[in-house]
Amino acid sequence: MKQLLILSGKGGTGKTTIASSFIELSKARAFADCDVEAPNLHLLKHEGTKISKPYFGMKKAIIDQEKCIQCGLCKESCNFNSISFDGTYTIDEFGCEGCSVCEFVCPVNAIKMVDNENGEMTVYKGNSVFSTAELKMGSGNSGKLVIAVKNQLEENLTNQELTIIDGSPGIGCPVIASLSGVDMVLIVAEPSLSGISDMERIIKTARIFQVKIAVCVNKFDTNIALTRKIENYILPLDIDYVGKIPYDKLVTEFTNRGKMFVDEDLEVSKAVKSIYKQTIKILNS
Ligand code: SF4
Ligand code: SF4
Repeated sequence: MKQLLILSGKGGTGKTTIASSFIELSKARAFADCDVEAPNLHLLKHEGTKISKPYFGMKKAIIDQEKCIQCGLCKESCNFNSISFDGTYTIDEFGCEGCSVCEFVCPVNAIKMVDNENGEMTVYKGNSVFSTAELKMGSGNSGKLVIAVKNQLEENLTNQELTIIDGSPGIGCPVIASLSGVDMVLIVAEPSLSGISDMERIIKTARIFQVKIAVCVNKFDTNIALTRKIENYILPLDIDYVGKIPYDKLVTEFTNRGKMFVDEDLEVSKAVKSIYKQTIKILNS
């Protein structure tokens, strides 16, 4: 089984549109959305029975006020400044990182770590398997949930040949979690100064994982000069440049209607198909 991960340095580059197009073109029967902070692949692609369950990631500390003798040791010891005093010692549930130090230092066992529902995991099972999840707002540790999404996909697989993963935007912990175990990453770059900087940072991160790397440029005609800059940056590197996609407002119109544009007779569809063919060729080489 080969795993293809699609990444972009930030949201809004068309990463999910390309991922859903690749799923459509390949008829892949295994795919996942690892953008757990703002999942949206399910709006475009899913079928089968939906099975959801709560996700408990990180425990949180709570104080039993009956037992607390107000010594203040927990507040002094919390490196995340998540404990405040306003007549009583209280823990900020959004600031608590679940490190357990306060539980350890409390002299009267007034603090305990409790399970905390950080989000929801969902798998759609039918002719295909689609794994996704959504992190609750303010819950940290999205990298752990990304791993859980990938594990959930694997647990439900039956011999699929290709897995397509829509990765998290950015370059942080969830991206690193998305990268682990994949065979190839396709980076969707956009021709803007921040887009180029994001692309360079993702390339550096992906190289650490020693996976095959390819780059495509989306909405290339919105800035031809910066598209050339991306192409010139990639040229001397051992990275495949698989093509560029023009901007077409019809893509958004199709997407908003939950429809795929890739089968339409459009320049943008031809460009995505060509990028798909090259990417799969590299993945299987
Ligand atoms: S568990 Fe750690 S982060 Fe949370 S309140 Fe206690 S010391 Fe602070
Ligand atoms: S360490 Fe324990 S007893 Fe001391 S203030 Fe914190 S909760 Fe209360």
